[in-house]
Amino acid sequence: MRSTAASFDHLSQYVEGLPLIDCHEHMTGRERMGDVLQFLCSGYYSHDLASAAGDRTAERILDPSRALAERCDEFLDAWRATRFTGYGIAVRYAMRKLFGIDEPTRETLEDAQKRLPDYAEPDAFESILEEAGIVARITDCWPPPAEILDGSWKPLPRQQLALSLPFLHAIRTRDDLSRLESACGATVTSLEDWLDLCGRYIRAGRDLGAVCLKDQSAYNRSIAYRMPPRAEAEAVFNRILADPRYHAEYDPDGNPLSDFLMHHLMRVAREVDLPVQLHTGHMAGVRNDVAKANAAGLRSLVEVHREVRFDLFHANWPYSGDALFLAKNYPNVTIDFCWTHIVDPVYARAMLVQAVSAVPYTKIHGFGSDVGGGLPHIAWAHAALAREVIACALSDLVEMSHLALREAEEIARAWCFDNPNRFFGLGLTGPAA
Ligand SMILES: [Zn+2]
Repeated sequence: MRSTAASFDHLSQYVEGLPLIDCHEHMTGRERMGDVLQFLCSGYYSHDLASAAGDRTAERILDPSRALAERCDEFLDAWRATRFTGYGIAVRYAMRKLFGIDEPTRETLEDAQKRLPDYAEPDAFESILEEAGIVARITDCWPPPAEILDGSWKPLPRQQLALSLPFLHAIRTRDDLSRLESACGATVTSLEDWLDLCGRYIRAGRDLGAVCLKDQSAYNRSIAYRMPPRAEAEAVFNRILADPRYHAEYDPDGNPLSDFLMHHLMRVAREVDLPVQLHTGHMAGVRNDVAKANAAGLRSLVEVHREVRFDLFHANWPYSGDALFLAKNYPNVTIDFCWTHIVDPVYARAMLVQAVSAVPYTKIHGFGSDVGGGLPHIAWAHAALAREVIACALSDLVEMSHLALREAEEIARAWCFDNPNRFFGLGLTGPAA
């Protein structure tokens, strides 16, 4: 992406040189992907394939037991429809960088199949992140709770841990308690016991160096958490305890137990002074309901927990105005553009422009790759696209005389590095001003 603004080339070069903090990723380990179509298309891009050509076609394209030539033809058909989306652009950037492919053909893909990098190799894996200029990455990689509690979990280089919350409050059956019970070597006999274990887990994570808490319950329930009386939550919890066969009803609006526990977890977040990252807006995959994920639903949670710092993910796509309102209106809310540049780069650019004119620029986190282990090349591509989007947005603002060039540089540096470095307490040394 480019801007026609006169300052674009200068700002693009400036942003290119900035260290980048990846505010959100999912790398559980280093993996080798042995199939070129899985290497290029798995992860988010496959959801656009499904959207364009249907889920069955997307599955067939990614099925390595089928002949590559046959799958290439199906891929190339779907590629035509998907190559202009943010996910498509990320795949295009990765193809160009690694294989010199501008437009894929069956022949160039068969050739790429013979030249796949091996990202199980630490050097190959780390060097592409190095080339992306990613200096730290906040990871939601779900370590076993036992490894958090005994302090044995080890991050990959550059990783900083986000402690995952959903399994602590999405309790529907007795079995949902067992992961944390066995990690703690404890048996839960009351709601009070469970609250204690949740606190133990989060404090252990903090002691291990976790930099935030993270929740993505928006995939399964409305994020408009209510404030039920404790007795209502306790009645559900006690029934779950008393009958291991009981299954608390699934309600897309949430349930009193999950709502009550979420508020409890926010009090623990305040106690340990860790910010809370929340999924808002668009969800990975197809056929979900985005209305329940709109950040507007969080209004009472962020209102009640004024001493908890909330980092709202994915720029709340497609509800930019609601996220801008929350960040402008609540001192304890920031907006995180993780994933956003590849979900919809044009949206990201427009919203960043609007954010400068509506929200203090210290409350924007500019980048998060949101990718998993076998796809560091997509993290690289996403970082490249994010730098372009940021340079476009800021040069647009210079063009309209809203910012001077030096001010645009100040904001770029804050979005890419200074803001998340401060917000998550990473303590990294930035480039000289
Ligand atoms: Zn994610």
